[in-house]
Amino acid sequence: MPVFARCFSLLLVLILTACVSDDRLTSQDLQSAELDEGLFNVYTLDERVLFEIPDEMLGRDMAVMSRYAKAQEGLAARGGGDRMTANMVVQWERRGDRVYLRTQSYSNTADEGTPLDLAVQNSNFAPVIASFPVEMDRDGSTVVDVSELYLDDHPAFSFPRERRADLGVQAFDGDRSWLEFARAFPENIEIRAVRSYDAENPPSNERGGTVSFEINHSMILLPEEPMMPRLADERVTYITVTQTDYSRDFQGVRPHQYLRRYRMEPKDREAFERGELVEPKEPIVWYIDPATPEKWIPYFKAGIMEWEDAFEKAGFKNAVDVKVAPTEEEDPEFSLLDARYNVIRYVATPVRSANAGGDVVDPRSGEVLRGHMNMYHGLEERLRWWLVSQVATANPRFRTTELSEEDMGEALRYVVSHEMAHAMGLPHNQRANFVYPVDKLRSPDFVEEMGHSASSVGRTRYNYVAQPGDGVPPERRVGLWDKFAIMWGYRPIPEAETAQDEFETLNRWIVERADKPWFRSAHPQFGMDVEWDPYRMTEGISDDPVKAAEYGMRNLRTATEELMDWVLSEGDDYYELETHYLQNLTQWNRYAEHAAAAVGGSWTHHKRFGEEGPVYTPIDADYQRKAMAFIDEHVLQTPEWALDMDMLRRLEHAGAVERIRAYQELAVQRLLNHARLARMIEHEAFLGDETYHPAEMLDDAREMVWREVYENQEIDTWRRNMQRAWLEQAHYLMHQAESEHWQPPASGNLRVSSNDDPPLNADLHISQSDIRPLVREQLQQLGEKIDQTLEVGAADRMTRIHLEDSRRRIDAALR
Ligand SMILES: [Zn+2]
Repeated sequence: MPVFARCFSLLLVLILTACVSDDRLTSQDLQSAELDEGLFNVYTLDERVLFEIPDEMLGRDMAVMSRYAKAQEGLAARGGGDRMTANMVVQWERRGDRVYLRTQSYSNTADEGTPLDLAVQNSNFAPVIASFPVEMDRDGSTVVDVSELYLDDHPAFSFPRERRADLGVQAFDGDRSWLEFARAFPENIEIRAVRSYDAENPPSNERGGTVSFEINHSMILLPEEPMMPRLADERVTYITVTQTDYSRDFQGVRPHQYLRRYRMEPKDREAFERGELVEPKEPIVWYIDPATPEKWIPYFKAGIMEWEDAFEKAGFKNAVDVKVAPTEEEDPEFSLLDARYNVIRYVATPVRSANAGGDVVDPRSGEVLRGHMNMYHGLEERLRWWLVSQVATANPRFRTTELSEEDMGEALRYVVSHEMAHAMGLPHNQRANFVYPVDKLRSPDFVEEMGHSASSVGRTRYNYVAQPGDGVPPERRVGLWDKFAIMWGYRPIPEAETAQDEFETLNRWIVERADKPWFRSAHPQFGMDVEWDPYRMTEGISDDPVKAAEYGMRNLRTATEELMDWVLSEGDDYYELETHYLQNLTQWNRYAEHAAAAVGGSWTHHKRFGEEGPVYTPIDADYQRKAMAFIDEHVLQTPEWALDMDMLRRLEHAGAVERIRAYQELAVQRLLNHARLARMIEHEAFLGDETYHPAEMLDDAREMVWREVYENQEIDTWRRNMQRAWLEQAHYLMHQAESEHWQPPASGNLRVSSNDDPPLNADLHISQSDIRPLVREQLQQLGEKIDQTLEVGAADRMTRIHLEDSRRRIDAALR
């Protein structure tokens, strides 16, 4: 709580009064203002905010973060989440009788005091974003009125331009905006204000034509001495900050990346060097929102504390701690918005997820100054969906719409633990989900000891490999990779004086473990055109993801066939049935994606020079064929298990045919995908007959999709639709697809020597590749086969008219 102004010495008052002009602030004014002491003294006076900036704070770096404290419904979902705009770093600067606020960038640096430093400064002039007349000079400090930053529509402290355009913001209305409070803490200033704008396209309450929110601006002092950064390495994935260090020993300019991580320094350095477990100078302490339902608090705590083990590998004991934050009544000085605290917010919105990150990061070093985690109430529903679609067949206790407190608590614990990893700097490591032999995941002893994955930070949730009767616990834990990653990123290397000095040790830690797949990492892949490594796919698991998908399908079929029994009770409407059913189809589509990624795919194993073998290894032909067989059986053949009419007619009068068509169209598009074909063409160019040829894959796909034509059988509605999807995709490749994105290698658009060089691989030139001739051949072969079938006589009328129509479409595609 702000306290009222201190008394100044009489002498000081006299001096001050003597040198201020009429419209300037008087010390009397200040005495009547509300004062909060901290990093700066902050005064509030008749809707004005005044900072008293001590001289030693001039020129210091401060991070500015603007986060919604309370947002109009729908606002966060419209972009940016709970942040109004990106963070920035500023400095206060005094020149004559004005104080300036300038934004600093640390993307470019050089060793201080060197000629290069001067050159870097000359090319990185700090923009002056605001200027304030000095209201009052005091002994060792300067008072300025900063109201315009927080209470007017200053561009640096207001909606960014793209958000304004999206919401149709026309004007800021000061009459509907006000200051809530201005508080000072030892390392930060927190200003809270309500703001209203006229908006043509508000996120909710259309009729009001207004967007309003309560915004919290934090200004956080960055450490005087930046933490020594640690160089990032693609072999141990971390979230990073990018910087170009012109003093680095490199002849040229190449930005490099530092890990985003907390500062973790031994309290007793000597003990650490003797190899003892030591306490850190500052543990990572998390505060749980007092708005969190009480029953979940022990599980949230467990999710945080689970990481203690990982820090022991890094040499630290008691490295993490977690507490429930006091309410405002319990401790008026405590605020969840105080930038010194890592907080888990419990947010009452229907959003079915959670998120976290290093909220305030020192751009000079990557140091996370404050972590933030949002646990949205809607998450519980998604957790139930995952559990039913993935593991309820093997674990009867999940066959319900209301999990026991222990089961839901455990599911939430895992999410907190996963989000905690993000806050500590770990991104999704999908690779570490694919390390254990698939059948080991059916062994309770194995899973008890190792978990079903080496990382709980990947985008794979539960162990769907385990079958009924296996008795495998579905819980997931921090895994081997997670512990290694924390060790690698956090263990101090005392003998190193610079980030570069650390490289030898960091490299050794990786190379020593390179033969163990559970110490590998790679980012997940998303999107049909860029999914080419089955070990990087969402929800994938085990060293044999295609076989794992087979096991998954067994569980999923049961979970769909039994769904009514599991999720309905007398008197229920069909909401639960519908949402679970749709989730089950999503899960089906995941398995389809896992198998497709193997076709024309490669395995990734990040390595550096000196380590043996390639980084990218084409997947062998047999595994690709096995994936094709999976796609045939489980994806292209009509999913009868999902088409129980008794169930569907409770949900809809129609829609199933179209829904299945849409999923199968995706499956066909994945096979006849320009990027997949381009990869297969390249594999063939290097490996010839040792690889699965694109022509062979297209033959197999045609025979799977058009099987009835080859066996002269009736073609039903589902299959007719899928076959037309094949025809349309073939037509698209023949006539429309031109220059398509296909995730080129990192060289991308790099032109290394001259602007006259062609951009390298940035686009795939379909008309100059083998793609069209390959597809043309498929169309011709199919056309001939259909002609033969029609000559003999089609199996029934619908089959005949479908084949006659297909023949015309083939002609059109070949034209
Ligand atoms: Zn995540």
